[in-house]
Amino acid sequence: MSTAVDDIGARLIADESAHVAHNYHPLPVVVSRAEGVWVTDVEGKRYLDLLSAYSALNFGHGHPALLAAAREQLDRLTLTSRAYHNDRLGPFATALAQLCGKDLVLPMNTGAEAVETGIKVARAWGYRTKGIAPDAATIIVANGNFHGRTTTIVGFSDDPVAHDDFGPYAPGFVHVPYGDADAIAAAIDENTAAVLLEPIQGEAGVVVPPDGFLRRVREICTENDVLFIADEIQSGLGRVGETFACDREGVVPDVYLLGKALGGGILPLSAVVADEDVLGVIRPGEHGSTFGGNPLATAVGLRVVEMLASGEFQTRAKALGEHLEVNLRSLIGTGVTAVRIAGLWAGVDIDPAYGTGREIAEKMLARGVLVKDTHGQTIRIAPPLTIRATELDWAVEQLRHVLTA
Ligand SMILES: *Cc1c(COP(=O)(O)O)cnc(C)c1O
Repeated sequence: MSTAVDDIGARLIADESAHVAHNYHPLPVVVSRAEGVWVTDVEGKRYLDLLSAYSALNFGHGHPALLAAAREQLDRLTLTSRAYHNDRLGPFATALAQLCGKDLVLPMNTGAEAVETGIKVARAWGYRTKGIAPDAATIIVANGNFHGRTTTIVGFSDDPVAHDDFGPYAPGFVHVPYGDADAIAAAIDENTAAVLLEPIQGEAGVVVPPDGFLRRVREICTENDVLFIADEIQSGLGRVGETFACDREGVVPDVYLLGKALGGGILPLSAVVADEDVLGVIRPGEHGSTFGGNPLATAVGLRVVEMLASGEFQTRAKALGEHLEVNLRSLIGTGVTAVRIAGLWAGVDIDPAYGTGREIAEKMLARGVLVKDTHGQTIRIAPPLTIRATELDWAVEQLRHVLTA
C-alpha cells in the first residue's frame, strides 16, 4: 500500500520536472494541504513547516482572520488597476504608514519589485532633491546581499549562481563588506544617493551584523545626505521579535522595503514606505504596476497590519526565539558549528563531517520537518510565528536525531 501511495508523489514530481523549468531544486515532497504550522503531502504524511515560504507565512498557513479577509473581499471586488480608486487601498496604506511611522506607501506585488521601486525612488530623489548630476547617482550595497532576481538586482549580487551569465549589468552600484560601517563612510561621495541593506542578511544564512552597525549606518547616511533603504522583505513584520529588524537598534531608515509576509501567505503584496520628502518625488505616470495595490491583496494586507499592530506576534517571536536559541546552541559541537539567531529566525551551520545542508534537510524531511539549506552548509529555520514551544522542541529533537544517527 505504501508503494502505491509513494507513487502519487513520485509521479507528480516527475510530471513537474518534465514541464516546469528547472530554476529550483525543491525537496522531494508534494504538499497538498496545510493548516497553521503543519503541511500535509499528497500521501497524507504531515510535516512541521520550519521555512514558512521564506517568511511569507509568518502567521502560518490559512490563518482564519486572513482567510476571512480574503474570502470577504473575493466576493466584493478583486481588481481595479490604479486607473480608478478602490475602497481597500486607502485604509491599507493608512494603516501600513502608521505601522512604519511614515507618510506614504507605494504598493507593488513582489519583493523584487519593491527593491526596483526603491532604486528608482532613490535615483529620482538623488537628481531632484539632492542635486546629483544626471545619470551619475550610485547606490551602496553589501557583499553577500540578496534583493531578488530582476536583471538590475542580480547585477549587484556577488553570488555567482544568481549573477553569472545574466549581464550586461546595470551600472551605479558600489559594494562594501556587510557589517562594516567605516567602509560605507569611505565609499560615499557626492554621487551617492542611497545605502541599500538587509538589516539582517537572510539568504546569506541569517547573518546578523555587529551591534551598533545599523545605528552607525543611520548616522553616516544622515550626515552625508544619503538615503538609508532597509530591505525588510524577509526580516520585517514580526520575524525577529520586533516589527522590523531595524527596531533591534532603535533605528528608523528613510525607506522600508516590505514584501513576503505583507500578503499574509495568500497573495503577493509588497510596498515601499517612506516620508513625503522622499517618496513624494515620484510623479503620476513615472512608476506603477497593473496589480499593485489591488483590493484583494490590500484587504489581506490591511488585516496583516492590524494583526501586527497589537505587538502580540512580535512578543511571541522574541520569547520563542530565546527558547529556540538555547536548544539550538546545545547542538554546537555535535554536528553544529555555529548558530545565528534573531527572534524566530535562525541560521544553523552544519559541520561538513555530518553532511551538507541539503543532506540534513532531506533527513529532516524523512523525520517530518521541513527546513531548507542555504549556501551549502547552513540550515535556515524560520517557522510561522504561531508555532508552539513544544513543536519547536520536537523539531530540534529531530535535528539532534539526524545529527547523531
Ligand atoms: C525574498 C526577498 C526579496 C525578493 O522577494 P520576491 O518576492 O521573491 O521577489 C528581496 N529581498 C529580500 C531580503 C528577500 O528576502
